[in-house]
Amino acid sequence: MSSSFSRLPDTQGYFGEYGGRYVPPQLEKVLQEITEAYEKIRNDESFQKELDYLYKQYAGRPSPIFHAKTLSERCGGAQIYLKREDLNHTGAHKINHCLGEVLLAKRMGKKKVIAETGAGQHGVALATAAALLNMECDIYMGDIDMEKEHPNVTRMRILGAKVIPVVRGTRTLKDAVDAAFEAYLADPETIFYAIGSVVGPHPFPMMVRDFQSIVGKEAREQFQEMTGKLPDYLIACVGGGSNAMGLFNAFLEDKEVRMYGVEPSGLSLNEGEHAASLTLGKPGVMHGFKSYMLQDEEGNPLRVYSVASGLDYPSVGPQHSFLKDIKRVEYVTVNDQEAIDAFFELSRVEGIIPALESAHAVAYAMKVAPTLPKTTTLLINLSGRGDKDIEFVVNKYGKNYGL
Ligand SMILES: *Cc1c(COP(=O)(O)O)cnc(C)c1O
Repeated sequence: MSSSFSRLPDTQGYFGEYGGRYVPPQLEKVLQEITEAYEKIRNDESFQKELDYLYKQYAGRPSPIFHAKTLSERCGGAQIYLKREDLNHTGAHKINHCLGEVLLAKRMGKKKVIAETGAGQHGVALATAAALLNMECDIYMGDIDMEKEHPNVTRMRILGAKVIPVVRGTRTLKDAVDAAFEAYLADPETIFYAIGSVVGPHPFPMMVRDFQSIVGKEAREQFQEMTGKLPDYLIACVGGGSNAMGLFNAFLEDKEVRMYGVEPSGLSLNEGEHAASLTLGKPGVMHGFKSYMLQDEEGNPLRVYSVASGLDYPSVGPQHSFLKDIKRVEYVTVNDQEAIDAFFELSRVEGIIPALESAHAVAYAMKVAPTLPKTTTLLINLSGRGDKDIEFVVNKYGKNYGL
């Protein structure tokens, strides 16, 4: 198994049977151009140097690892460590791939980057990278989401991006994807479509993984320096799967390191009340790639839900599907209530307010830590900070936590 991971995906963009490129012919050509451009810059020293510079001097990398001693003590078992992606500029891991994607778009001579956004996190990270690198930026967003996530709309506008309201269909993420896609197809020569996770047609799952892999690369060195060993367990939440792949990638060949991807089981395991694509879904094709997904008989996405809006996607990056099938990574679930408990626990005992997405990973660590000896180490990817979630959490759940 040893060298097999570094060669994935294959030249067609497959991780085993997952991934690929299921798109209309006109898009096939543009994606091939992006693939070729990426293959070129991937090994280009000046590109890597520029990206490393931005990671360090702009985004604030390397993000530290913190030993959460009080939380570990309270759990009464394994030692819990946090990779602090919440400390990055803009407050999450998304800046890692947005800087890479916008830099690539610029090298390709594109004038504009576009994307859809649901809660606005990807939109803000992309608008930030676009402002920095002097690119136009259009963000498509359902008008219902725009109202719900108003502070992020304001942020994007301050950063100089154009936020385009999508007023058709469900007026949420699903229709924003279609609107952004149409805009892209109308002018693929000047536009770069920046996908926000390790999903979509080849080369995006590979490219976004590579840009995020800085997380695991740093963590592997930092953890060994701190403890003299590799972590025993890695834990990360999985929406599309980019922060998880970013951490896991550097450890895939370390057979002794166990890995857990945490999906949201939301309110229940009933249809429409969760977004556990790997746990409860089946292989299928949607949004241009093959993966596990939550899909009806006709291939339409099923309704999904999670208290963490960054996790409610009905599919998942194809590499995760592959890693599930070969049993290299185990995929587990955490529900809304467990995530909310973890959100308050980490805030109150460590002084770190996590994003609701990241709180899912913390919740799983809190579940397994008590079952393990004190010598076992767990490393969580703390993908983002919770500032964006505080108002919602206090309004909906504050009562039970003395607020
Ligand atoms: C968007 C987001 C996620 C989910 O995306 P992945 O691609 O699964 O990493 C997780 N955490 C935070 C803080 C996010 O903003």
